[in-house]
Amino acid sequence: MEIKQKKRPETIETAVYGSDRMLVEAPSDKIPQEPTAPEIAYRLVKDETYPQTQPHLNFATFVTTYMDEYATKLMNDAININYIDETEYPRIAKMCGKCINIVANLWNTPEKNPWKTGALAIGSSEACMLGGVAAWLRWKEKRKAAGKPFDKPNFVISSAFQVVWEKFAQLWQIEMRVVPLTSEKTTLDPQDALKLCDENTICVVPILGVTWTGLNDDVKGLNDALETYNAKTGYDIPIHVDAASGGFILPFLNPEEEWDFRLKWVLSISTSGHKFGLVYPGLGWVVWKDKKYLPGTMSFSVNYLGADITQVGLNFSRPAAQVLGQYYQFIRLGFKGYRDIQYNSMEVTRYAHERIGKMAPFVNYSPEVVNPLFIWSLKPEYDKKANWTLFDLQAKLQENGWMVPAYTLPDNLENIVVMRIVCRQGVSRDMIDMLLADIETAIDELEKLEYPTPTRLAQQRSQKINHKIFARTGHTGHVKQSVICKGTDCK
Ligand SMILES: *Cc1c(COP(=O)(O)O)cnc(C)c1O
Repeated sequence: MEIKQKKRPETIETAVYGSDRMLVEAPSDKIPQEPTAPEIAYRLVKDETYPQTQPHLNFATFVTTYMDEYATKLMNDAININYIDETEYPRIAKMCGKCINIVANLWNTPEKNPWKTGALAIGSSEACMLGGVAAWLRWKEKRKAAGKPFDKPNFVISSAFQVVWEKFAQLWQIEMRVVPLTSEKTTLDPQDALKLCDENTICVVPILGVTWTGLNDDVKGLNDALETYNAKTGYDIPIHVDAASGGFILPFLNPEEEWDFRLKWVLSISTSGHKFGLVYPGLGWVVWKDKKYLPGTMSFSVNYLGADITQVGLNFSRPAAQVLGQYYQFIRLGFKGYRDIQYNSMEVTRYAHERIGKMAPFVNYSPEVVNPLFIWSLKPEYDKKANWTLFDLQAKLQENGWMVPAYTLPDNLENIVVMRIVCRQGVSRDMIDMLLADIETAIDELEKLEYPTPTRLAQQRSQKINHKIFARTGHTGHVKQSVICKGTDCK
């Protein structure tokens, strides 16, 4: 049916929902010829995204969904500042340098320079890339100097890598050597990692806060194994720690655990300021153990306000607001404040982990909770007779606004469907109780099903669950989920 418009011009008096604009299709191909009154444009955009913008109920994401009002005001006030304009805003560059110093010291940097060597990034993805590129260039320069070929670099990582490492491998054409995880070996096994190393290995990448499972790779074990290996082979293969989550958890909750620059072979570490650094999205940090580990070709020095700050990055223009947000959080919360928040997140996670573990259909993937997230699956014996899968549970929970992702584990474990909860700041005991009650209600309903759901049928049809099967069943929700799981949220 054609909707009839009255062809009235928009004036200051036009009511938002009485305007012609509200009767025409929203643009999806071409820019509209005419302007639209701001209140009307605002409502159009707002209404289009409204039902999907409840970040607080999003248990899939690691990324900050709550900051206090002062932080929000500071960041909103700085929304029009481009970080790269350092000549115009030198104090922001200096503030960034202070944040890098604070992060470097949280990770026990031995660097003596007053300005520690690190970089601001848009997230862990950019930070990981910078750490990886630095390792590659250091290796390349050394190989060149020794007159050896430098055309076949590789790096070693577990199969539970975050997608950024696949991008790193593809974009820089560096071979990714993957140590498969198994049901017995749920984190990177140092000896298995060494088996994949050779003279062309630029670095090994352990992960703290593995996105798929919430577990931590054993960085100390890897460091010690590399010590022996490097002494024996004469190589000097270093470690880049992808501490996207763990970088802001361990320093506060387990300061005595050695995973950082206290270890000899750890030369660089990256983290997401917007995950447990407690800043809204758009912030990552990478730090090198010393200036000498950052290849000169990647960095340039700037001298502002008497501060000699090193500048590194893939992006040029970028928002400055996140730097203000991070510095505010450091001052506002202090060490104790961060510790209290991370402690609460861990306690709420442990509580949820225990309650989930007691529900009849479920089994936790790991008895341990080492980061504020965990995964669980259906018990194998339950899985055999159930008419539903965790994908159905995900859809049921979504009816109440909860986003709790179900996904399949990486290669070798891809038959295991798991569900994950991340308890960020903002997830209280009360909220978890509400979620757990909804999970119990959903299970009751799912157990009443007389026939298998389409996702269960698909699972029965093929031992091997893969995303293509879900695509064929027409369950686009699940297909979408598998796509999300390739992104930063699930994987
Ligand atoms: C989230 C995450 C990334 C990517 O981080 P962004 O900050 O989203 O770019 C990389 N590695 C791990 C282990 C992660 O958890």
